[in-house]
Amino acid sequence: MQYVSTRAAASAASQSPQQFSDILLGGLAPDGGLYLPTEYPQVTGAELDAWRKLSYAELAFEILKKFATDIPEADLKALTAKTYTADVYRNAREGESPADITPLRVLEESKGRRLVLQALSNGPTLAFKDMAMQLLGNLFEYALAKKNAELNIFGATSGDTGSAAEYAMRGKKGIRVFMLSPHKKMSAFQTAQMFSLQDPNIFNIAVEGVFDDCQDMVKAVSNDLPFKAKQKIGTVNSINWARVVAQVVYYFRGYLAATASNDQKVSFTVPSGNFGNICAGHIARMMGLPIDKLVAATNENDVLDEFFRTGVYRVRKSAETYHTSSPSMDISKASNFERFIYDLVGRDAERTRALFLKVETHGGFDLSGYPGSDGDEFTKVAQYGFKSGKSTHKDRLDTIRDVADDYGIVIDTHTADGIKVARENLEPGVTMIVLETALAAKFNETILEALGEDAERPAGFENIEALEQRFVVMPADVAKMKDYIATNTGL
Ligand SMILES: *Cc1c(COP(=O)(O)O)cnc(C)c1O
Repeated sequence: MQYVSTRAAASAASQSPQQFSDILLGGLAPDGGLYLPTEYPQVTGAELDAWRKLSYAELAFEILKKFATDIPEADLKALTAKTYTADVYRNAREGESPADITPLRVLEESKGRRLVLQALSNGPTLAFKDMAMQLLGNLFEYALAKKNAELNIFGATSGDTGSAAEYAMRGKKGIRVFMLSPHKKMSAFQTAQMFSLQDPNIFNIAVEGVFDDCQDMVKAVSNDLPFKAKQKIGTVNSINWARVVAQVVYYFRGYLAATASNDQKVSFTVPSGNFGNICAGHIARMMGLPIDKLVAATNENDVLDEFFRTGVYRVRKSAETYHTSSPSMDISKASNFERFIYDLVGRDAERTRALFLKVETHGGFDLSGYPGSDGDEFTKVAQYGFKSGKSTHKDRLDTIRDVADDYGIVIDTHTADGIKVARENLEPGVTMIVLETALAAKFNETILEALGEDAERPAGFENIEALEQRFVVMPADVAKMKDYIATNTGL
């Protein structure tokens, strides 16, 4: 299995196809594109039948080995077995089995309509990002040990990604994590989750500024190429290919758990921001999984909903990005979207490059086919099964209340956006699976507003705010940041 950039000119020698391990530790391709396999591996009906009996870890192995063909199978099997265990995904709700890793819960079944929740948030940080990040931690440790190399992960977070990265990388040999967050701007729960880690390879840096200041510092440090090379700096952001592949697994798992035979169809509704999660659904579908619709649910930041309704992709400026009560979907630009567009335009790299350069220069592109637009591929979007919808703060509050009343469970704000949009897209005879992307305890302020009571916390999280915290406070000063990194890496 080989990988190419979505912007790779076939002739460019520097763009020769890469193996899985070559792109594992990197981010963007050198030409600014994203990596995708040269073709999607196909799954047969016989394989799907056989996979119905597998554990989550065994299924993850079967799917990953189609993509990571340069890792010996025995090693990959050991890595997936170590990653997907019941004790890592122990935060399952009452009545759900942690051994299922991503247990399903039927919410509603009437008149041929079936609404199901797939819990992806039972890992250490109570958000779906653990599903991929936990595997990444083990893959990185494995790959670095082979090369006798080390890696210093440097990133900025406003919440979910940073904590998932830290919990995946804590205690891993050859890896340090330097994570910037805006000082006193995260919720008490999120702050405690990250800052209570005492592992010597985890460095929490609270920056005196807002999230954009943190991101600017990451960019400034990453643009200093000699420093970046000397300090062996890498990232784990949502465009990382291994993260996307790890997410493909739970679409298969959800399908197999919700159906009895392969002639049944299932749709998925996915609370979306950077298009990473739903991009994995697109890939599962391209591999032959019988997915009917993939429904992107957005909050007030509706860049994706706008595209799937109109064919116009229009990114927002950061000043136009709303701060909402489903904050992990507050994005102005969907960083994985280029992967889908590449397929949509028939894997034409020149065209993909031109469209995304237009995003940089003109803030977007238009595939609606109207006079003056950049193309007419929007007519093909339906063939890929995509639909979308949007949800607001009021919708979240209403949905959290409805779900508590009707089904007796408390859902988080992002999942509420998903359920709201899923209900608008139910069809008779097709099971609708909503991906649960976080547990309610993480976003308690809004649960309190909706229900007048606190979200229940999984065991072990009762008093995390009282744990001792380990972090440094720093001004938004690039030179000081570089000093801090160099001192702590000793490089
Ligand atoms: C990251 C995140 C999302 C959005 O996922 P994307 O892959 O960026 O589309 C949704 N919900 C929660 C809770 C998240 O942490």
